[in-house]
Amino acid sequence: MKSFRLTKDAVNHLAKEYTTPLLVVSLEQVTYNYQFLAKHLPKVKVFYAVKANPNARIVQKLAELGSHFDVASDGEMLQLTEMGISADRMVYANPFKTPKGLAVAKNTGVNKFTFDSESEIYKMAKTVPGGMVLLRIRVDNPKALVDLNKKFGAAPEDAIKLLKIARDQGLDVGGLCFHVGSQSPTAEAHIEALNICRKLYDEAEQEGFDLRILDIGGGLPIPTLETEVDVLSIAKGIGEKLDELFPHTEIWAEPGRYLCGTAVNLITSVIGTQQRNNQEWYFLDEGVYGCFSGIIFDHWDFELDPFKDGEKKPVTFAGPSCDSIDVLFKDKISVDLEIGDVLLVPNCGAYTSASATEFNGFAKTPMIVWEDVKNLTEK
Ligand SMILES: *Cc1c(COP(=O)(O)O)cnc(C)c1O
Repeated sequence: MKSFRLTKDAVNHLAKEYTTPLLVVSLEQVTYNYQFLAKHLPKVKVFYAVKANPNARIVQKLAELGSHFDVASDGEMLQLTEMGISADRMVYANPFKTPKGLAVAKNTGVNKFTFDSESEIYKMAKTVPGGMVLLRIRVDNPKALVDLNKKFGAAPEDAIKLLKIARDQGLDVGGLCFHVGSQSPTAEAHIEALNICRKLYDEAEQEGFDLRILDIGGGLPIPTLETEVDVLSIAKGIGEKLDELFPHTEIWAEPGRYLCGTAVNLITSVIGTQQRNNQEWYFLDEGVYGCFSGIIFDHWDFELDPFKDGEKKPVTFAGPSCDSIDVLFKDKISVDLEIGDVLLVPNCGAYTSASATEFNGFAKTPMIVWEDVKNLTEK
C-alpha cells in the first residue's frame, strides 16, 4: 500500500517556510485510502472513526467523498454538525454515553447507537426513545496492537437477553457490532467475529428479531516500522466471508487508523544534544505531550528519518517539555545528529495529534495540507 511521504527537499523547504514542528496531511492520500475501501469492500458503508484524527480538513474531505462517521462524544457530534454533516450520517458508537452526549444526540438528531450493557439500554430508552441500536459483541484478539475487547463488548452468550431487553424498552434493534482491536494484522479476527455473529443472527431470528445491519468496526492496519501490511488480502478475506455469511445484511465499518494514518507526515527538529550515561541524547521540538502521545496511548513505534547517512548507534530521543516522562525512544538506532537537523516522521496521522496536549505551554502542532502548498514547494 502506498503511503504519503515527503521528499527531503520538500521537508527542508517546509521546515524553513513554516518552522517546526509541523504536520502535513495529504488529502489525496485520504482519498486514495477511502476509495481503496470503496473498491475492495464495495458493499460496506464506511463510518470514519473521528477519534483517530478529528482534523477538520480530513473530516471535510471524507464527507465530500460520501463517508459516514463514527462519533463518540458530544464534542465530536457538535464538531460535525457545525461542519454541516447531517445527523443521519453519524453513529454514536460509544458503549457508555455521557448525559451530555445523549442530550447532544437528541438535539442534533443523531439516532444510531451502540451499547454492550443492560444499564445503557435504560439510558437510551429514556433520552432517545425508539433509537436504532447495535449491540457490541466482545471478540478476543490478542494479535491486535490495541485490544479494545478488554474494555468493551458483551459476551456472545448474553447477546439475545440484551437484545430482548432493548426491544422491550422500545428501541429499534438493528443488529450487532464488534471491534477486533486496533491495528489488527490479518483478516483472522474479523472472520472469527463474523462466524460468531452469524450464529447470533440465526438465534435472534428464532426469537423474532430481524437484524438487518452488521457493523464490523475498525482495526484495519497501516504499515509499521517492522512490517508492511497487506490490506488488500485483509479486505478480500473479509469481503468473501461477508458474501458467504451475510449476503443480504447491510454492512457498516468504522475504520479510523486506516483512513488517516498513512496520510500525515510530521516534521520535527533537533533542538538540543547531550551525553547521558554514555548514550547520545537528542531533544526534539515535538514530544509525548504532543503528536508522539501515540507512543504512550497507542503503543506506536515511529520511524524517524533524518535524511542522513552515516554510522548508526543506539541513541535516546526526548521531547521538549520539562517532564521526565517526555522521553520518546531509548536505544533507538540512529545516525549522529546535530542541532537544527530536521526529521521526517511518516505514517503519523492516527492517534497522534488527536491525543496531543498543550502541556507546559507548547502549542499544538499546526497541520497544513500538502496539496495546498506543494506547488510552492516545487517551484
Ligand atoms: C477507535 C474505534 C474505531 C476505529 O478503530 P481503528 O482501529 O482506528 O480503525 C472504530 N470503532 C470504534 C467503536 C472505536 O472505538
